[in-house]
Amino acid sequence: MMNYGIQFWSNDDFIIEDGKVKVNHRHQPALIDIVKKVREDGYRGPLLLRFPHLIQKQINQIFKNFNHAIKTYHYDASFRAVFPLKVNQFPNFVLPLVRYAQELDYGLEAGSKAELILAMAYTRLGAPITVNGFKDREMISLGFIAASMGHDITLTIEGLGELETIIEVSKVMGKPCPNIGLRIRLHSTGVGIWAKSGGINAKFGLTSTELLEAVKMLEKSNLLKKFTMIHFHIGSQISDISPLKKAIREAGNIYVELRKMGAKHLKGVNIGGGLAIEYTQHEGKQDRNYTLEEFAGDVIFALKEIAKDKKEPAPDIYIESGRFIAASHAVLVAPVLELFSQEYTEDALNLKEKNPPLIEELVDLYKSINERYAIEYLHDSLDHLESLLTLFDLGYIDLQDRSNTEILVHLIIKKVIRILKHKNHSDIIRIQKEVQERYLLNCSFFQSIPDFWGLGQNFPVMPLDRLNTRPTRSASLWDITCDSDGEITFNIKRPLFLHDIDVKKEEYFLGFFLVGAYQEVLGMRHNLFTHPTEFTIEFNDDGHQIENLQEAQTILDVLDDIDYNTKEIERNLRQRIEESILDEETRKEVLGQLYVMLSENGYLRTVFNGER
Ligand SMILES: *Cc1c(COP(=O)(O)O)cnc(C)c1O
Repeated sequence: MMNYGIQFWSNDDFIIEDGKVKVNHRHQPALIDIVKKVREDGYRGPLLLRFPHLIQKQINQIFKNFNHAIKTYHYDASFRAVFPLKVNQFPNFVLPLVRYAQELDYGLEAGSKAELILAMAYTRLGAPITVNGFKDREMISLGFIAASMGHDITLTIEGLGELETIIEVSKVMGKPCPNIGLRIRLHSTGVGIWAKSGGINAKFGLTSTELLEAVKMLEKSNLLKKFTMIHFHIGSQISDISPLKKAIREAGNIYVELRKMGAKHLKGVNIGGGLAIEYTQHEGKQDRNYTLEEFAGDVIFALKEIAKDKKEPAPDIYIESGRFIAASHAVLVAPVLELFSQEYTEDALNLKEKNPPLIEELVDLYKSINERYAIEYLHDSLDHLESLLTLFDLGYIDLQDRSNTEILVHLIIKKVIRILKHKNHSDIIRIQKEVQERYLLNCSFFQSIPDFWGLGQNFPVMPLDRLNTRPTRSASLWDITCDSDGEITFNIKRPLFLHDIDVKKEEYFLGFFLVGAYQEVLGMRHNLFTHPTEFTIEFNDDGHQIENLQEAQTILDVLDDIDYNTKEIERNLRQRIEESILDEETRKEVLGQLYVMLSENGYLRTVFNGER
């Protein structure tokens, strides 16, 4: 049996019971049952399931741990947080989030004008809004408008040019002026694949010299009282806590120094995002070396000590964690369309009266495999495969022989796996790479897990059911794009095993977990595959409900989105059919079929038991 490392990555959000993955909340529904229910209503292709209770859980975790650390260390300032919209801007994520934020000191962070508009519309008055990233005059004016609405907004300056613009805009727009934050450039370097966010060569932030200059500029324009926050962000998915501790010490010292220079309204340190989540499915391959409790404790303790030593008040702490809040709330479910070796059945074998000797040997091997010699026979048959393929290239055997060879070798592989199923696992492990099965999934990795393609990020993946049966096939996963990068290869160091199923007779679904952060908006329409059909699972006292169901875009909508004239496309298609060789009756039928297709999404329709 296998649990796909659920104890490492699921944080108890999902559990395995009765051979199924279940949501570990209230009446604990099985994912497979939710999926089948939605598919009964005719939805096909990949599905994205959202669980808002998991957004709430993560927000509560952050507040609970920081407030606990504040109590433990008798820290004399408060904890505030914002959600960075760039991590997930979709309404079915953001709207539940702002609903849960009502009772907390929890706001939104914006990095663009569009995100700032969202923050202004949805942040509760009194909760913080922070604005990072490069800003022009117009975006800064938006900040002034937000302040006049009564928002607690802080514009974080990335460079002195931006500060000059703020000073100019403040002369025109007057009061109220938003709070001003300064992004500091740390000498302690950033971490991970996102390291460009921190370090001396970082893309963002003011050097010490620029900080001194900024304070002078603020003072001169009578805006020093608006300077309330310093900010840094050392990178996403911080795996090791030590660079963060270093950054906190550096930022803490900059904070006390700036106060001593006269920036007496400076009262906040914003430590950015970066809190990691655990993606690993494999023992000893953990993605982070700390807990949230430790993270919060380290931050509070370090800032307390620095403030105490330098006799300054402790700063309010702001955090901008995104991944930690959003990742767990979404699960991608992809139907398995095909196992590549599926067509290699005994029925398909078409042996001749007289076969080449190596093929005769394969037949013997297949018939006489036993437990004792299974692996030896397997290796012999793989050798024979090589030789027979070479013979084909040289013209010594024909296409029928080649087909028989492929079928026999796959039959042998399957038989060996069946025989060894109950044996010591190490025997199976030795042959995995050679005998892996390719699973074709009805989804696009480019659309739904782009960080796998762009950054090599692994997301936990597992079948939704059959979990009390031991999976026997080492698996590589293929999506339906025509791109060879749309493959998750079998990795002997992080092996994935799946069940040997006949997709013509039974359905099989894989779930990709922790896909709620960054993936959706980064997802690309490679091959014009769209966002999967998505829906929200809301729990209530009577069970759960499926809400906000949003079907994947239709083919016409996708084409419209990239600015085709869809009327012209329809006109051209119709005209070509009308002028075609088809007879009147058939033309009508074909046209009808074509229209149905244009109004459906472009994912494949799984044919199951001959039905759609
Ligand atoms: C991206 C970003 C974040 C969010 O980082 P996570 O790793 O998702 O927590 C926070 N702050 C800033 C400035 C960012 O650019």
